[in-house]
Amino acid sequence: MVKKEILKLVVGFRQFRKKFYDTEGALFDKLANGQSPKTLIIACSDSRVDPSLMASANPGDLFVIRNVANLVPPHESAQQGLHGVSAAIEFAVTGLKVENIVVMGHRQCGGIRALMTNDPEQKQETFVGKWMSIAKTAKDNVLKNHGPVKGEGDMDLLCRHCEMESITVSLENLKTFPFVTEAIQSRGLNLIGIYFDLEQGQLFEYDEVLKKFSLIQL
Ligand SMILES: [Zn+2]
Repeated sequence: MVKKEILKLVVGFRQFRKKFYDTEGALFDKLANGQSPKTLIIACSDSRVDPSLMASANPGDLFVIRNVANLVPPHESAQQGLHGVSAAIEFAVTGLKVENIVVMGHRQCGGIRALMTNDPEQKQETFVGKWMSIAKTAKDNVLKNHGPVKGEGDMDLLCRHCEMESITVSLENLKTFPFVTEAIQSRGLNLIGIYFDLEQGQLFEYDEVLKKFSLIQL
């Protein structure tokens, strides 16, 4: 079974090689010497939410961070703990000097459902529980503004609200990184919130002035 799945990867890579290596002026002739993506996308690890596939992007186009529920933790001292997400953001902003940071949330996010259905305080001993506590304020806001939960349909709707609300928490957390605020001021770095409704095949963009998500017309 494992072998079959690995074989699929190899067959897929054969096609990738043909497309990006085996032609005159192939893309990797250039990319072998470096990368200069203009956009950092922070997306969920969910197998249905692949930013490069969704954007029909080529190698070199997007710098991507994927984690459970596409969360950005607040800035903390680099001297304590290990901060994989913060390190990747730091490199994208100060090293690659990306022009945009997109936080992309999505419908039916398992991480958000775990946050909404369990008390994260009770689950702090798990990696997911501790990680999802980043979005606790999103949960609190959703329950305050849209709660309480009466049935499963309500919970599904509250999860949708929280999937969106947590994007705004991550956008705010991005601003706690000194190099992010510095890049916003000195060179106009854009922070963008996107919500992917995978049920409907639609994208929504967060409007910071109106404080709401609007459908992107395709
Ligand atoms: Zn997710």
